[in-house]
Parts: sequence; C-alpha cells; structure tokens
Amino acid sequence: MKFNDINYERPDLKILINDLKSLIASFQMASSPGEQINLMNQITELRSEVETYQTIVSIRHSVDTNDEFYSNENKFFDEKTPEFSAIINEYYAAILASPFKKELSDEFGEHFFNLAQVKEQSFDSKNIELLKEENRLSSEYNVIIAQLEIIVNEKKYTIGNISPLLSDSDRLIRKEAAESLYKALEEKQAELDLIFHNLVQVRHKMALKMGYENYVELGYKKLNRTDYNSTNVAEYRKAILDYVVPVVKKLKQRQEKRLRIGPLKYYDNGFKFTTGNPKPKGSPKDIVENGAVMYKELSSETNEFFQFMLKYELMDLEAKEGKMAGGYATIISKYKYPFIFSNFNGTSHDVDVLTHEAGHTFQFFRSLNQPLPEYYYPTLEAAEIHSMSMEFFAYPWMNKFFKEDEEKYKFSHLSGSISFLPYGAAIDEFQHFIYENPNVSIEERNNAWLAIEEKYDLSSDKEDNKYLLSGRVWQKQGHLYRAPFYYIDYTLAQVCAFQFWEKSEIDFKQAWSDYLHLCDLGGSLPFTKLVEEAKLKSPFVKENLKGVIDKVDRFLEGIDDSKM
Ligand code: ZN
Repeated sequence: MKFNDINYERPDLKILINDLKSLIASFQMASSPGEQINLMNQITELRSEVETYQTIVSIRHSVDTNDEFYSNENKFFDEKTPEFSAIINEYYAAILASPFKKELSDEFGEHFFNLAQVKEQSFDSKNIELLKEENRLSSEYNVIIAQLEIIVNEKKYTIGNISPLLSDSDRLIRKEAAESLYKALEEKQAELDLIFHNLVQVRHKMALKMGYENYVELGYKKLNRTDYNSTNVAEYRKAILDYVVPVVKKLKQRQEKRLRIGPLKYYDNGFKFTTGNPKPKGSPKDIVENGAVMYKELSSETNEFFQFMLKYELMDLEAKEGKMAGGYATIISKYKYPFIFSNFNGTSHDVDVLTHEAGHTFQFFRSLNQPLPEYYYPTLEAAEIHSMSMEFFAYPWMNKFFKEDEEKYKFSHLSGSISFLPYGAAIDEFQHFIYENPNVSIEERNNAWLAIEEKYDLSSDKEDNKYLLSGRVWQKQGHLYRAPFYYIDYTLAQVCAFQFWEKSEIDFKQAWSDYLHLCDLGGSLPFTKLVEEAKLKSPFVKENLKGVIDKVDRFLEGIDDSKM
C-alpha cells in the first residue's frame, strides 16, 4: 500500500493499553522461557500497532501543520504518549525481574537488558504530568518555528526555504535575508525564551523527582547511552577544541581569501565561493531520478531499497507552505516502511537528503526484521554513522548531480562536515551548562552562549544585529528544545563517517561490506561496540580523533580552491 493510501482512524488507546497490561501480567506469571518469548512477541506486535498510528499522524502533521485534523490528532498523541510510555516501562521492569533472563538473553542478545535497565531508570510514572507539559512545550516551539514569516524583497519565506538566500552570491540579498530571519526570530524571542525556560524547569523537576542531582545523567539515560558518560564527552569536546578548531580556522581564512570581501560578516557565513555555492543541476524530479541511478549502481542492496521507497511513495521531499522545517527519517513499523521527510530548497542540501536521510532509511530497511523494536535502530550517535557515511559512499556519483561543480561540491561538503564539529561541541557544552545550572536567568544563559561561541571560534562580525548580540542564535537549533544532549551525536558519527570516507577511497568494496554489516546490526549493540564491529576507531580516544582530522585536513590542503 502507498503511504497516502494507508487509512487512519484514531485508535482506542484505552483498549490497546488494557490489552498491553494483561499481556504484561501474563508475562510476569509465565512459567517457562518459551512462554515469555511468545508473550514478548505479542507485546511487540501490539506496540507496533500504537506506534504506527502515532507515526502516521506525526508524518501527516509535519507535512502540513495547517491541516486541522492531523494537528488535533497530533495533540491527542502528545497527551497520550506519556501514559503509553508508562505501560512500556512496566514491561521493561517485568523483563528485568524475569527469572529466565539467561534464556531471554540467549534469544534476544544481552544489549536488550542494558536497554531495558536504562529505559527503566529514565522513566517514572510520577512524572507523567511533567512529560505531557514537556511535549506540549516542544510542540509549541515547533509551531512557532514552522510558522515564522521571513520577508525578503516583499516575498514571504519560511525557515525551511530561506537558506538559498542566505548563501546567495549577491551580498545585499544575503544581508537582507539574514537580517529578516533574525528579525523574525527577535519578534518571537520572548516566547522562545519562555518556552525554553519552562522546558529546563520541567526537565530539572523530573530529574529531582527521580533522585538525580540534575537533568544531565537522566538526559543521557533517555538517549539510551549505556557505554559512556558526560566525562567521556567532556574529554571529547576538549579534543575537538584542540585538534579541530585550528583546522576550521584555516578553512575560514581560505573562505575569506577566496571571497575577497574583507572580514566575513554574519551574513557571509553561508556563502563559500565567488562563483556561487555548488548547486545540483536540474529539477527535484531529476535529483530523484539521479538518486535512483546512483543507488542502482552502488549495490544491489541499495537498489532494492530505493525502488521500494519509490514504489510505496515513502518520500515527501519538496518544501511547501505549512510544512515543518528540517528533515527526518522514520519507521512505520507495522508496514515495515521507512519514510523520508525533507524540504528541498534548490541547494546542495537536496542531494544530502537523498544521501543522508536515505542512509538512515536504508539502515531501517535492513534492520526492520530484527526481533525487537529496540533493535530497529541504534542509539543516535550510531544511527548518524549510517546517514553521514552514505554521503561519502555517494561521492563517485556526485558528478551526476553537480556536473562541472563536482570538485567544488566535495570540497564544500568535506570542509562543511569538519567545520560542523566545533559548532556541535559548542551546542553540547551549552546544554551541559544549562542543565547543571538550571536556575540561572535568561540573560545569564545567553551570556554563557556568547562565551562558548567565542571559545569555539564560531562567530563572525555580528555588526549591530541585536538578536545575535543578545546571544540567542541557539534558539533556532530545535534540538535544544526537542531533544536535549542529542546534538553531540552528530559529531561523534561524523568522526566515524570520515573513517568510512578514507576507507572507501582505498578499498570501496571492503568499506561497503563493513558498512552493510553495521546497518544489519541495527540497534543490537551499543555505540562503542558497533564502532568496533564496523572496524572503526573510537572517537573518544583523542589520538584517534587527531588521526582522522589530520587526514581530512591534508586532503583539503591538497585542493586548489582559489578559482572556486
Ligand atoms: Zn541524520
């Protein structure tokens, strides 16, 4: 069935929840491992039922935030999910108390028990009301950002389709677009301040209620991190500061030299080349067609995958009014469908969607037969390896999308990827400050951001832009609102993806087979173990990070960008 033909009716959650409860009760009373395994499979099926409804609603709502029906349904699920999570948590508690742990772990692997434990420690039904409040607040944020009106040259833009203008080769247009974007955010800054302040309070309260000192450890557990902690992450950020920031500084100097417009201003950041940024040639339709050819030639596995996505119409790619910003990949588990959501905007970002988001969905496609939903995909830092590495595996086909701009694209993509690392570390450091100091004022919070921005050398001349000078630019980073502590995951994955890039340059076949193995493992192992299985080096070891960065640095040094 095609995605749009899937019928949706609001499920009777009361009945579903009661059914789940009685299955869990039977699980607790089961007298043999076989019986428990059987019940686990039934529970998985029922969960998939509920999660499928919820995902369909969330996709259709994000495709058109003005659609009242799905907007209401989305609110309904925002309201109800915490109760549903409470039941699932009872299930994890029952798993942990099972007398047949040995047999269950022979059947499903040990990692499931680590996950059950960390999930149990990160949820408490005492917090249901607070969780609802948290959902409500982040939905409020989503709506404000999706409906932001950015006026440039008397035309209306959204945050989802403004970015081509931010990198326009006409400096006046760039400037107007950036000014207008920050003015739109400034108009909403009081609301955004308040939503964030409330979110921090809500999260801190939840942590205290559960006996944590603050939200940090709870936040890590909510991300299912079982194999590293905030000390490892702090050391990793330090290594980024030492080894990556200097490389990025050099890249900025090269950008300045290429552009020949003097010191870069805040509205120049997105503009990298005097001849314009590399743009994919052709229409959105051409891009998708080129994608199909690329995946056909890349491997039989990717071909099967991409044809499936096309056949069941599992991609919503083009930007439209009312559509939520950004991009994501998700799973409609009952149908074993992956789904890609994005906002094509005519920049190289559109090709990244077909590589990055397709990398995620390719992994889902490979793992949807894992025995437990917990294994459909790994923790997020591992999940981003699939997507970011696919961007590199796609390199040999970039001439199809970019024609004469191929080298420029690679230079831009690789330098963009490395330049992202300090930003990712800064967002992470900021979040540690926020949740370790939950009671600071809005102003102190913004000042902390300004200091971190400076430390990681992120900012260009802000001129007299009030919004930027007030230290609020982080407000457009939705992860801060929606998914605390998630952001660093992109950087960890990037360091792993760089390794696949190096390997694919040396031996494409071997690199691809290691990658395929990683995708097939899904979420059956924690991050550091998956990294080992994929024959990659851990980003947490600073010498490894240095080695990876040195290679990227040397490659970029070898490219003559003066004519670009
Ligand atoms: Zn991703």
